[in-house]
Amino acid sequence: MYALRPDRIYAHEALRTNPDAMERMARFLETMGNTTDDVDWFAPEDVYRVSGEVAAWTPEMDVQDWKMRQPIVFTNFALSGTAGEDPALKNKPEGTPLFNPEHILGYLPIFTPHHTPEKDAESGMVCWPSMFLASVHGCSHGCVYCGAGRGGKALIIALNVREYLQKGIRKVIEDNPWQKCFLMMGAADIATLEPEYGLYEDYLNLLAEYEDHYGYFHTNGDCVDWVENLTHRERVIGVWSLCSNEASALLEPCAPPASSRIDAMAKLADWGVPVRVKMKPILPIRDWRESYAGCIKELLSKAKLETLGFTSMIWNTYDRLEALLDTDQLDPTFVEAAREAKDEMGESRHGPFPHEKRLEMYRFLISEVRKYDEKLPLFVSTETARMWDDLAPVIGQNPRKFFCGCNPVQGPGPRYISSDVNESNYRTNKETGREDK
Ligand code: SF4
Repeated sequence: MYALRPDRIYAHEALRTNPDAMERMARFLETMGNTTDDVDWFAPEDVYRVSGEVAAWTPEMDVQDWKMRQPIVFTNFALSGTAGEDPALKNKPEGTPLFNPEHILGYLPIFTPHHTPEKDAESGMVCWPSMFLASVHGCSHGCVYCGAGRGGKALIIALNVREYLQKGIRKVIEDNPWQKCFLMMGAADIATLEPEYGLYEDYLNLLAEYEDHYGYFHTNGDCVDWVENLTHRERVIGVWSLCSNEASALLEPCAPPASSRIDAMAKLADWGVPVRVKMKPILPIRDWRESYAGCIKELLSKAKLETLGFTSMIWNTYDRLEALLDTDQLDPTFVEAAREAKDEMGESRHGPFPHEKRLEMYRFLISEVRKYDEKLPLFVSTETARMWDDLAPVIGQNPRKFFCGCNPVQGPGPRYISSDVNESNYRTNKETGREDK
């Protein structure tokens, strides 16, 4: 795991009587150089004290430092009841900044339906429906595009893992027999907490009880040594987010550079673990062509990929782009196009760069890949139907059924392993009445 050295460590008192949770905590503490004497145990009634203290923790240090020193809250996953019914969450103090009291008390969602056909029809995204799982909230990478990154104040980690898997996740697997591949992520990078957390060992053991079921880890880190000794390594699939070295330095100040991530991917090839990469978010920095061409060359020369996909920097308005980044560092033609299209893009999920500029970017990246690999399945992730219409002939995949990264029915190979879900959420603009931007 990463070399975390939290300024404060809190733990929910319910963990004390759970040997499974205490073993996991002991591993974390040992690696971080702490002991149980450093732990501030809290009762549920103390939740607003802990939440207030975390919110008030204001680090005066470089982001690289503070992301390693942010507080850790070890919590007890709440497997019954709701935050709204919990007496400890009544009487919320007025006027005091708080940080995620519900999560601190263990009310993390066991699963969240992502990319339902209805939601994708509304946002104009082409993706696959999927139940996403989560057991951690918070991340050490400090990415400017992520609320849990730059804006996050703590790592909240549920430690009653066996209970969570047996009472929570087993039910999700059995209630959704159509889904074969499950992404365990939330607003977190769980791979960077392994092997101390030990979640993947037990999660994959559970999945191994079911025929052709697999678990994804999704990371923009380089922490993979824990994968080698997993009991059911054949059940894991690694998915990476990858920016070029130069774009990553701007967007992901605490994540390892692309080259380190590529080295980590290469290790997985030695262990026979499938690797899928999403180049995202693709930021058109001034020399983006050279920067991403170099990244693709290094990626395809070192790692063995099952698929490779692309997503431009999306989910933003032009004003937000200006607030997040120094736009002088970006390709002026992209900035100008985004500025001109500001009203047209409005609150579109695919802003701030208009369709034609994103298309220009994807066409370039696809042509770079094809210099080295003519057959690798390529895709655009969560793009529009219009983008698929323009790119499908170049990509060579059917937008209604395409191999991608964290698809719920795409097993190692890649191959489709479900007869129940056969289609993505792709619908033409004519079918939906949309006008994709
Ligand atoms: S990789 Fe596939 S399933 Fe995952 S977010 Fe992208 S389009 Fe959706």
